[in-house]
Amino acid sequence: MQSPSIKRLLSSLKKLPSVGQRTAERFIYHWLKTGKGEVNELRGALNELLANTKSCETCWDFGDVNPCPICRDPKRDRSRICVVAEPQDLQAIESTGAFVGVYHVLRGVLQADDEDSLKKIKIKELLNRVSLPFIRGELGGGKGLTEIILALNPDLAGEITMMYLEKKIKAAAPGLKVSRLAKGLPMGGDLQYADDITLSSAIKNRTTKSPPL
Ligand SMILES: [Zn+2]
Repeated sequence: MQSPSIKRLLSSLKKLPSVGQRTAERFIYHWLKTGKGEVNELRGALNELLANTKSCETCWDFGDVNPCPICRDPKRDRSRICVVAEPQDLQAIESTGAFVGVYHVLRGVLQADDEDSLKKIKIKELLNRVSLPFIRGELGGGKGLTEIILALNPDLAGEITMMYLEKKIKAAAPGLKVSRLAKGLPMGGDLQYADDITLSSAIKNRTTKSPPL
């Protein structure tokens, strides 16, 4: 028989990505068996995570400093911004070593069944970023922004988001090159789980052609 406390925690855990009833139950009975030590460690780690993590207000990745180490790094190529859906996608691309530009993390994609998804993700921040004259290199010296690489998952929500972004970026910053990862990632696949060779070749062979829908 599941007590009200178990039911309450079940409903919280099931809000986590990829956690269903069975997994949530496994977690709960594990904690009940191991007792306070593990639960307190988890509570401490979660509190520390929230207390010490900041949003980078340039690229919207999470880290312990704002701006993040990539946005601070003078060696990164600021003429290219790679747009990703999730922080894990940024990590996947960084681990290939094939990209030396900077990033923009949307923190999600547009969802056909969620009208609020447009407000929830960092599209406005991206459009502000691409239209700033000093970033475009129109003021002062230095090389300005020349290319936006849309590196979202090759699935329906990713495609819808990329089409929307391409239209908005071209309106906000005419003349800016907008490219996408080359084919090679499996359709419906997840960029985070692509192997380094496939992902780096998709970055190197990126294209400016939108696929026909
Ligand atoms: Zn950053």
